[in-house]
Amino acid sequence: MKKISVLGSTGSIGTQTMDVARLHPEQIQIEGLAAGSNTDLLLQQVKEFAPRKVSVATKELAERIRHELPAGTELYYGREGLIEIAAGTEADTVVTAVVGSMGLPSTLAAIDAGKTIGLANKETLVTAGHIVTARAAAKGVKLLPIDSEHSAIFQCLNGERYEDIERITLTASGGSFRDYRRDQLINVTVEDALKHPNWSMGAKITIDSATMVNKGLEVMEAHWLYHIPYDRISVLLHPESIIHSYVEFRDSSIIAQLGNPDMRVPIQYALTYPERWTSPAPRLSLAEAGKLHFSEMDFERFPCLRLAYECGKMGGTAPTVFNAANEIAVARFLGGEISFLRIEEIIEQVVERHVNISNPELGAIEEADALAREVALHL
Ligand code: NDP
Ligand code: MG
Repeated sequence: MKKISVLGSTGSIGTQTMDVARLHPEQIQIEGLAAGSNTDLLLQQVKEFAPRKVSVATKELAERIRHELPAGTELYYGREGLIEIAAGTEADTVVTAVVGSMGLPSTLAAIDAGKTIGLANKETLVTAGHIVTARAAAKGVKLLPIDSEHSAIFQCLNGERYEDIERITLTASGGSFRDYRRDQLINVTVEDALKHPNWSMGAKITIDSATMVNKGLEVMEAHWLYHIPYDRISVLLHPESIIHSYVEFRDSSIIAQLGNPDMRVPIQYALTYPERWTSPAPRLSLAEAGKLHFSEMDFERFPCLRLAYECGKMGGTAPTVFNAANEIAVARFLGGEISFLRIEEIIEQVVERHVNISNPELGAIEEADALAREVALHL
């Protein structure tokens, strides 16, 4: 029996994780669930999966649902609640599916408690990659990727030697505006930006896909997960999202992982690794797909990707600041406060003003994160 806890159980990755659990009731037991404010859905999940512990974002929300929980379910809230679900249950695997660098303390707590991490929350690796990976290595804890590109790379590297890797290539669908020129982006709306062609995801990552920030975060995520230098990580536009990513080896062989876009596959693999279980994901027929398309990434069209590479290579607190500025800019865009193109300007300006600190401790990261948010909020 796999025992799991899910941080962000009411979100896009969270609900698909619950789908996977629902499909394998004999093999997966839910120990803990943490949600933000969608208490209706959380209560449904509690009814169905009977977790021992649950958490919500605030004390007020906790008070509102307290009397609706079954006797055996303990209730927590806030930052401490999230940490309790991450580290204080019998789970052997914790799925990190909250959005943003707010997931860092709970991810670290889960690692310290020796839990295997099913890692969806890429912002934690971007913001503090050296700390998270060192902590996981010291604890002997596995970081199993849920992000589809990183799951693909992980699968391509099964049984391979690190020194044989030549290059990693992450594929990118291009997001909601992949066929737009830059001058067509001036008046795009939040509704337009939220229409992703291939994947149905949470709002923040859907916007990140449209700005290509998501791919930038994924480049940094790949750097930390696989210890590959930035100049050996590429991004390739692939509108069909069928090749989820690939690895080239020194003998010139390329190994790729393919499938129809369905996040339940990488989520499940993170839970069952090294086993593979049956899945309801639609099977891929290459004959039906017929043609797959690829093109070079255009760094002028997608300047956030160029900036992400620069911040990644700089290291230190630069990736933290890139990520924090983006989180605020995206929230402001989603709130109707700024235009789409303003997102990249804000990130660029916050990064420009930042004085980089190399090899930062957790405290310096938290400070850089908070300051970047403050600046990004007022630009
Ligand atoms: P969603 O916005 O759909 O879900 C976010 C989750 O976090 C919700 O359950 C939300 O709860 C919860 N949450 C928000 N605030 C708090 C809080 N204060 N305490 C506890 N929980 C909170 O995001 P996604 O599922 O799309 O993304 C999650 C992560 O996975 C992100 O880092 C993203 O980059 C990554 N990812 C997502 C993919 C996808 O397909 N969606 C693909 C690859 C990576 P509530 O709704 O109850 O408020
Ligand atoms: Mg991805």
